[in-house]
Amino acid sequence: MSISLSHLSKRYGQTHAVDDVTAEITHGSLTAILGPSGSGKSTLLKLIAGLERPDEGTVVIDGQDMTHVDPRHRDIGFCFQHYAPFRHMNVAKNVAFGLKVRKRPKKEIDQRVEELLVLVKLENKARSFPSQLSGGERQRMALARALAIEPRVLLLDEPFGALDAVVRAELRHWVKKLHAQIHVTTVLVTHDQQEAMEVADQLIVMRSGHIVQSGHPLALYESPATDFVHEFLGPSTIFQGEVTRPHDLELVSVYQGTEKGRITSIVSLGFEAQVTVELSDGTSTWVQLSRNELSDMGLRVALLVGVRRRLDAV
Ligand code: ADP
Repeated sequence: MSISLSHLSKRYGQTHAVDDVTAEITHGSLTAILGPSGSGKSTLLKLIAGLERPDEGTVVIDGQDMTHVDPRHRDIGFCFQHYAPFRHMNVAKNVAFGLKVRKRPKKEIDQRVEELLVLVKLENKARSFPSQLSGGERQRMALARALAIEPRVLLLDEPFGALDAVVRAELRHWVKKLHAQIHVTTVLVTHDQQEAMEVADQLIVMRSGHIVQSGHPLALYESPATDFVHEFLGPSTIFQGEVTRPHDLELVSVYQGTEKGRITSIVSLGFEAQVTVELSDGTSTWVQLSRNELSDMGLRVALLVGVRRRLDAV
């Protein structure tokens, strides 16, 4: 189901949490709302969910104006970072909860729960209690619970925020696969640009309650509309007064560079190396090289080098 947000605003006292936001979330997409803390991402999600009412503007889901419709009647599944499971209920009962509230027949509930537990790969944990699950398993249970009611829209607010890096990476691959399987229109809030770039097919970048740019993740990465988007969507450095991707720069001999300077640090991070150069005008820039480039060039701290934009840089 598509979601149309039109001139949405939400204020808390003097704070314009969401300020005149207009956006189209296409049917079946996986859209990430990305922005720094306090930029209005969660508030926007709550406005879609109906957990907050806008001061101005409308929320239209699949052609129906939902702005004043109670959250229970919006057909939306939620999954939040600090999801609180029912501790006294086992996994199967937690997943069944929304269906029970909706008074679906027992047979239908049992069948649906079984399907969902297979989908989230918790079929062997149906009788376990939430306290017996790992963090990643608990979030998968939360997703199954959100999906149980067959929502038209799935909203995820920093769903992996509380997990460690390895589990986070696993879960985001998994969510992407799940989305490819079930194609429910999904909106994910995150402050993590890597998460957004990896998972989403649409990005909405927010700052101070506004949308600064939206579109396909690669399009935003390659053609950021502002320095803010550029800096937010990946590694960046300043070269000749412009925000630049560090992998779009290269180190060459002093005479070949468009700028020259002295290497002040080299940080090796497995496959890549980050080389910082203090330029002759006193500013610093950093260049991202592969491990091979670093060793082939015999770079070391204090060496004088030239810096230039790579010829194939966009
Ligand atoms: P994000 O999700 O991007 O971190 P939020 O939507 O949570 O941002 O918050 C946007 C702004 O609105 C922040 O300045 C925050 O302090 C404020 N805000 C959010 N919720 C409330 C609330 N219930 N009461 C008062 N201020 C709030």
